[in-house]
Amino acid sequence: MATTISSATNSERLQSYDPSTGQVIGSVPIMTAAEVDAAVARARIASQTWSTRSHAARREELTAFRKAIAAHADELAELLHRENGKPLLEAYVEVMMALGHVQHAASHAEAAMAPKKVSSGVLANFRATISYQPLGVVGVIGPWNYPLNTPMGSIAYALAAGNAVVFKPSELTPLIAVKLAEIATKTFGLPDLLQVVTGAGATGAALAKSAIDKIAFTGSAGTGKRVMITAAERLTPVLLELGGKDPMIVAEDADLDKAAEACVYGALTNAGQACVSVERVYVADAVHDKFVDKVVEAVRALKTGGDDGHLGAMTSPAQVAIVKDHLADAVAKGAKVKTGGIDAISGSYIQPTVLTEVTHSMKVMSDETFGPVIPIQRVSSLDEAIKLANDTSFGLGSTVFAGDASVARKLASRIRAGMTSVNSVMAFAGIPSLPFGGVGDSGFGRVHGDEGIREFTRVKSTAEQVFPLPMNMMSFNQPKDATKRIKGMIKTLYGEGIVAKAGDLLRKLRS
Ligand code: NAD
Repeated sequence: MATTISSATNSERLQSYDPSTGQVIGSVPIMTAAEVDAAVARARIASQTWSTRSHAARREELTAFRKAIAAHADELAELLHRENGKPLLEAYVEVMMALGHVQHAASHAEAAMAPKKVSSGVLANFRATISYQPLGVVGVIGPWNYPLNTPMGSIAYALAAGNAVVFKPSELTPLIAVKLAEIATKTFGLPDLLQVVTGAGATGAALAKSAIDKIAFTGSAGTGKRVMITAAERLTPVLLELGGKDPMIVAEDADLDKAAEACVYGALTNAGQACVSVERVYVADAVHDKFVDKVVEAVRALKTGGDDGHLGAMTSPAQVAIVKDHLADAVAKGAKVKTGGIDAISGSYIQPTVLTEVTHSMKVMSDETFGPVIPIQRVSSLDEAIKLANDTSFGLGSTVFAGDASVARKLASRIRAGMTSVNSVMAFAGIPSLPFGGVGDSGFGRVHGDEGIREFTRVKSTAEQVFPLPMNMMSFNQPKDATKRIKGMIKTLYGEGIVAKAGDLLRKLRS
């Protein structure tokens, strides 16, 4: 029996369900605002010790954490499989990606946070330094689609940067987070360094309202806006990783076999419930029909459900309803179903669906579908493909397939999105040194990479006087002719003076 989300909560406990059977597989407490505040206060104390540790000491503990997660890989993958509904293979891939983030963040934090000397400009007697300091306590709110890997993209980087973390997982996938917290408590010397607070939206809102130093939110654009409004009360900075409507462009000279293979995987992995799923495909007129045939053939060979299935159960009945709505809307407006379709939906399982003859008036081409649907649109030119790809309020990932590498790179640069995979799909998500994030309704800020480490730091600027100059600009004690001297300096340094001219020349030579 499928269970609706609203019935998944009761006044004391939050129940977690196996979406493939509707069976309850566990329950967790619904934490109140007072409990969230208490967790944040404990995290604050832990952060005071953790932030003063050397990078080497933090690296050592994070390495122990990584090894402990790897040692529990079977348990974690099984929980991901049962609680989220994804096939076991995809669950193991998720565990592996999460481990990659712990390793990357631990080994790169020191270099990413290394103090930098910068030019002191006209104040040539100063040493100017930029350094990066931990924020304190970071709140992480996560989604259900990649309940381990996605939050780890913030958690690992925040910890490596010297912060404590309080993590609020999705109400649909709390058990995996509780398991992670158990591992953390046993591994870190500071048991409150990584805590999990469980509950639904109200618990997340309490975390956004609490005395944290930054909130890293991953979820839908609507909730992201609410989180930002709540965080504004304390001027808590926010990092928003939101939804997407990722386009894929296939040029006439693309390797069609590889493009079709990538399209099918990119649209259907995790049953299409990935923020960077391929959600719209634009194919050059000359190869459109051939490409559609290849995609349909590949999709028909996939298996939905079962232990060896390529696609698992949809995680929530609410998501099945959205997919049905998008399919009905598309068909009513003239889309052609090449395989799958509404009639092939059974409970929490959706047969992958390929649509053609789609237009931007259809929800399936404008709103996030977040399901196993591949809508393919024919385009008469690459300029039209770019125009359609950018016809969205989202801007997370994107994919380009073209035979000519320079054309492919140019297309990639013209797509308004945070990330693009060229002649591959979703590859940017598998490279932890590449910053991950979006533009527009897909959010702002970056996780992963050096930028993802520095997201969880505050920039400290230090100006240190190394030797005094005859004229001290930061003083009211000035010589009588100070104004005359400043006027001369303006001309010499920035106007038509000899120093300014020499500077302009140098800049010209360097460029
Ligand atoms: P959601 O917005 O419904 O919920 C996300 C989290 O926010 C949950 O933990 C939820 O309990 C919490 N929440 C709900 N109301 C809240 C409130 N008022 N204040 C604070 N927290 C609150 O999103 P979802 O359905 O869990 O996840 C799917 C969405 O996440 C999709 O749009 C997907 O594209 C997006 N996503 C984005 C990324 C990314 O990196 N950009 C990654 C994964 C998923």
